[in-house]
Amino acid sequence: MKIAHYLYNTFIIESNDKKIAIDPGALFFYFFRFTTLIPKSEWKDITHIFVTHGDIDHYWHTDRVAEASNAPIICNKTMVENINGKTLILGPRDRGLAFTTPIEKLHTISVDETIKVDGMSITGIKATHGPFTFKFGPFSKTLHPGPKERIGWGAIGFKIQLDGKTLVNLGDTLLHEKKMERNKESRCFNDTNWWKSSS
Ligand SMILES: [Zn+2]
Repeated sequence: MKIAHYLYNTFIIESNDKKIAIDPGALFFYFFRFTTLIPKSEWKDITHIFVTHGDIDHYWHTDRVAEASNAPIICNKTMVENINGKTLILGPRDRGLAFTTPIEKLHTISVDETIKVDGMSITGIKATHGPFTFKFGPFSKTLHPGPKERIGWGAIGFKIQLDGKTLVNLGDTLLHEKKMERNKESRCFNDTNWWKSSS
């Protein structure tokens, strides 16, 4: 198994016949050019695309990678709506909660649900997205996740079992340290991921 980490929460995992992309997002602090985190040369060979949520740095190029690779997207069911009989995902480059983008191959999952896809067992894990602060020189703006807010939309983590190994990826999530039996307030880890690989 080969794991390549790009910036933020973007990974490519290669194992036997699979080349899994996690969070094909964009670099968004580089003159707002939204450069792809996964090099374009890798796109066509990708076999599965996992998306932890709809933020720019996790999601911006998702439909483009899907088109280049013909790979299915695996994401939270809240990332998808059926509108007039069409299955549409949250528009990767649209503002707000606009479900605009048709996708041919899709597997949706909910927290605690397990699905089987091409020999992988995939379980949805609860992820809690924290607020996000943009900084532009002396200015800053904090966006808070909410029922109608785009920030953090669709947040879910994945437990992926394949080829006798287990991978866990939680995207952007708050760390609830109390659950880890430490007596501290919850701390926020934005754009931080925990990666675990065990055989
Ligand atoms: Zn995020």
